Amino acid sequence: MSQETFDLVVIGSGPGGYVAAIRAAQLGLRTACVEKDPTLGGTCLNVGCIPSKALLESSERFAAARLHSAEHGIKIGGVELDLPTMLGRKDKIVKQLTGGVAGLFRKHKIHWAKGLGKIVAPGKVEVAGETTEVLATKRILIATGSVPATIPGVAFDGDRIGHSTHALAYPSVPEHLIVIGAGVIGLELGSVWARLGAKVTVLEYMPALLPIMDPDVSKVAAKLFAKQGLDIRLGVKVTGATRKGDTVEVAFTAPDGQSQTITGDRVLVAVGRKPNTEGLGAEAVGVQLDRRGFVQVDAHYATAVPGIWAIGDVIPGPMLAHKAEEEGIAAVEGMAGQPGHVNYDAIPNIIYTHPEIASVGKTEPELKQAGVPFKKGSFPFLANARAKALGETDGMVKILAHAETDRVLGVHIIGPRAGDLIAEAAVAIEFSASAEDIARSVHAHPTLSEVVKEAALDAGGRVLNI
Ligand code: FAD
Ligand code: NAD
Repeated sequence: MSQETFDLVVIGSGPGGYVAAIRAAQLGLRTACVEKDPTLGGTCLNVGCIPSKALLESSERFAAARLHSAEHGIKIGGVELDLPTMLGRKDKIVKQLTGGVAGLFRKHKIHWAKGLGKIVAPGKVEVAGETTEVLATKRILIATGSVPATIPGVAFDGDRIGHSTHALAYPSVPEHLIVIGAGVIGLELGSVWARLGAKVTVLEYMPALLPIMDPDVSKVAAKLFAKQGLDIRLGVKVTGATRKGDTVEVAFTAPDGQSQTITGDRVLVAVGRKPNTEGLGAEAVGVQLDRRGFVQVDAHYATAVPGIWAIGDVIPGPMLAHKAEEEGIAAVEGMAGQPGHVNYDAIPNIIYTHPEIASVGKTEPELKQAGVPFKKGSFPFLANARAKALGETDGMVKILAHAETDRVLGVHIIGPRAGDLIAEAAVAIEFSASAEDIARSVHAHPTLSEVVKEAALDAGGRVLNI
């Protein structure tokens, strides 16, 4: 048993856990972080946000070289895919970033305890690695994240039937990739392999695409994905997947109630993720889980057990890296007697497809349901000079503002660099800005950000360039 007593032991080094550990060290807490995997950074850095974005970027460049260079007057003959190099580049980026977290731990003198962490009692964490040690600590922060979920009748075989981690490293481009679930992972990784030449069929249970997004955005998205060749079938209930040699037969019930099958050479199951508390021993010490397995916490991220907190994917809420980070910071600041806080109305959500889809705040149906009076403004990228220069004119920005106070309540974007443009909207919501505040702020010309300004002008009935 280590002689030292830590002020805080964080279990899990994903974006929630590692950022919490750094903030704790900044606040003067003697901190350890337990990680069972060989590298730090959790799902996001190792098998999530970062490798998926690396492949999205590379595959978009490949598609652009093949399909869009001629319109710029650039003739490229014989564009070829070098998949091992593309995958190697992704791995290199992951290695740099996970190594960067290890460097940050050294800088902040955070002890990296290597192994599976188990809470044996409040104030005691057993770490089973090459050797087994027990860390004594004043506080414990659970940041164990999430793992891929599947559905009845579909079992991962680690080969032809897999989850996102497998789809980040297929050794060759599938001939026919069947994706189960048209959520964020299905659309992002489905796009990657479609751009690289796979036939991609997406089977989605819900009757509409991206039902949590604003319907105006979802409608545009459905059209654009269809144009890109993604065969998205809505209202489909998958009932099983059976391996047949090097292929997989997926059985489903079509919207008309008929049982059907479809065969592909790879299946990506992307039906959501589940909280990860396996081997953690949390319940045994009195931490309560809800019926879906999420750790139950109060508004300050405290569990039912004094001295144990939880944040990130393992607690309810959107499964996003930046949500986990902000919760980690707020939880630790709260432990240090500071007023840590997360504004859940100002968490941006981005889907890194082409074009990107981004939103923050409320959607139109949510405002209607809550009975909030609102006005709206929108502006298409088609009427923006920079979008024309880029050759990226699909999509629009939509702003929802309170009908009386003009306060910005929601911003929804589909279009080029939507993921970067949404930052302005998140800051506007955080600062309780009005649509007029955005409209009167100077936006550089010619930039895509002028579409946000014009949408804000439109909400005030004085759009200029359309
Ligand atoms: P995690 O990142 O899951 O980290 C938990 C860590 O805890 C892991 O390293 C795990 O090994 C460790 N651990 C678990 N149990 C124990 C234990 N008992 N002992 C020791 N260690 C343990 N989000 C975004 O915001 N943007 C994106 O672009 C994005 N892209 C994604 C793409 C994919 C393919 C996937 C799968 C996810 C993506 N996400 C994205 C979601 C994002 O990865 C998660 O929301 C985020 O990683 C959650 O952070 P976390 O710290 O709560 O948990
Ligand atoms: P998701 O919740 O985004 O989508 C799952 C989809 O599967 C839903 O549309 C759902 O209706 C569908 N589905 C569920 N059961 C089904 C069934 N039986 N048959 C067919 N379809 C079914 O989940 P995901 O795409 O697996 O992603 C998991 C999490 O990771 C998400 O919560 C997301 O927040 C996070 N993530 C975020 C990003 C990002 O921020 N860009 C990227 C990837 C993942």
